Amino acid sequence: MKITFLGTGTSQGIPVIGSDHPVCLSKDPKDKRLRVSVLVEWDEYSYVVDCGPDFRQQMLRAGVSDIDGILFTHEHADHTMGLDDIRPFFFRQGDIPIYAHERVLGELKQRFPYIFVNGKDKYPGAPGVQSFEVINNRPISLGKLKVVPIDVMHNRLQVFGYRFGDFAYLTDVKTINEREIRKLAGIKVLVVNALRMEPHPSHLNLEEALELIARIAPERAYLTHISHLLGFHEEVEKKLPEGVFLAYDDLQIEV
Ligand SMILES: [Zn+2]
Repeated sequence: MKITFLGTGTSQGIPVIGSDHPVCLSKDPKDKRLRVSVLVEWDEYSYVVDCGPDFRQQMLRAGVSDIDGILFTHEHADHTMGLDDIRPFFFRQGDIPIYAHERVLGELKQRFPYIFVNGKDKYPGAPGVQSFEVINNRPISLGKLKVVPIDVMHNRLQVFGYRFGDFAYLTDVKTINEREIRKLAGIKVLVVNALRMEPHPSHLNLEEALELIARIAPERAYLTHISHLLGFHEEVEKKLPEGVFLAYDDLQIEV
């Protein structure tokens, strides 16, 4: 399985527009972070997790010409606002499968009603999707792989993480209960959000992310959904424990 980090930034991305924070002014390409998303590829399949406002640029940068579907974690704008840009995939492939909690599918229908119109009323040129509801404790069959939804909390908002075999992707987590942690037993690679050093009401900070990694005990962990307030990539990475890394845009890993 190959994982490509399409974006590793928090909701505003890095640099933040108009910011003169040193991390926003950094010349290191690893300090430039698009909105958070990953491409997961195995056998002949490729799936994207989330579809934020940088989706178009991410697909171009990663050279993606076909996708088998998009799995959504939750409805926040930094995870959903690129949905219109599935058009080139739709024109070549037809309706694009999307997987999300029923609540998130409802939000997408409100924000992009024209995408969900069928038949002769559909605007020519509008993209189309095939919606699949994600239900906790019901693995999703993608080819031969059973993807396991992981139910986590983003302050008071429910969010899904996803386990793809030996790999799990959790973003926008603040808390996760023991039952959901057990679904991650034995994973080799974990991706989890770590916003900044200071606590935040709806995101793990670095210390909390490291505690969660220690509880799950994967072989390797990568941090994502990073704010400029976490610091320079190079400096933060040096302080991380063994087996824990800061993800950066365009990083590819094999699991
Ligand atoms: Zn987010």
